[in-house]
Amino acid sequence: MKVPICRIDPADLFQRLRARPDVSGELVSFSDLRTAAYCPRKLYYRRGEDADQSPPQRVDEIRALERRYETLLGAPAGALEDERIAVSPVTYRESLAATRDRLTAAGEWERLRNPETRDVLVTGRDCRGVVHKVLADPLEPVLIATGRPPDRGVWASQSVHAVAAAKALAWSHETGVDRAWLEYPAHGVVRSVPLTLHRTQRYRATLETARDCDGPPPRTQNRSKCESCEYADQCGVRTRTLRSLLGFGSE
Ligand code: SF4
Repeated sequence: MKVPICRIDPADLFQRLRARPDVSGELVSFSDLRTAAYCPRKLYYRRGEDADQSPPQRVDEIRALERRYETLLGAPAGALEDERIAVSPVTYRESLAATRDRLTAAGEWERLRNPETRDVLVTGRDCRGVVHKVLADPLEPVLIATGRPPDRGVWASQSVHAVAAAKALAWSHETGVDRAWLEYPAHGVVRSVPLTLHRTQRYRATLETARDCDGPPPRTQNRSKCESCEYADQCGVRTRTLRSLLGFGSE
């Protein structure tokens, strides 16, 4: 299957996608959708700031690990000390080897290692963004995450992102896509993401939220998310927590 290629510089693409939601065409960027799935209020703040941000260098370094799995598997543990891996070299090699063996047995490893195309800008009916790898026969998107995976499956915001990528790919190719993949190269983990009914429903609800995000939504109920949120001060979460600690009332 031939997949149309639209290669652009990733930094330039990031600026274009972050610059402004495509409200006129109702197209939502993958990153906005992922943020809305994490916390709609965070998306509201993000859209209100200047979009003059590029992904940090560590993002590129972690994603680059994905292209070197075979080298990393064959290297002595000591040689991995300086790599952008998130666990010990021994643990990393064990995880990556287990991933390779599991996916080889399932007949998936070779196609994941040899995608049809990489870093493709995909525009669907509702969303657009970069798909890091596109697999053929069957057509499936692969997203490369820079963080850690959950114990099982993928994080909720990544699930929404994966469905968006699959839907956009399906739309652009006028065919069905039943599955996406998430790779966590800093941990040597690869997870499949079937497009279940539940996932698709959550994607549609998040899409609606992202499109309607023109006023400050309520704060997330899951306050553990706020600990790493760059908008915590602006959001008032830290102030409110301190007030609560001092006995000046709660939320
Ligand atoms: S601090 Fe918490 S509630 Fe506020 S935007 Fe960030 S994640 Fe959402």
